[in-house]
Amino acid sequence: MAVPKRRTTRSKRNMRRANHDKVVAPNLIPCPKCSEVMVSHRVCPSCGHYKGRAITKKAVAGAAES
Ligand SMILES: [Zn+2]
Repeated sequence: MAVPKRRTTRSKRNMRRANHDKVVAPNLIPCPKCSEVMVSHRVCPSCGHYKGRAITKKAVAGAAES
């Protein structure tokens, strides 16, 4: 098995972690249907719509009523 010849320095390790293991905040947008803040490219947790279509059971039932 291949083994690293030298220990990675604190400096190099930290430089790597600074870019590769970054915690990125989710891209939040207002829902086009109900204008509630939601994560983009996901079904809205508030109204259950995605791309103008009812996805979740709750949203489908709500859409059928109206
Ligand atoms: Zn919504």
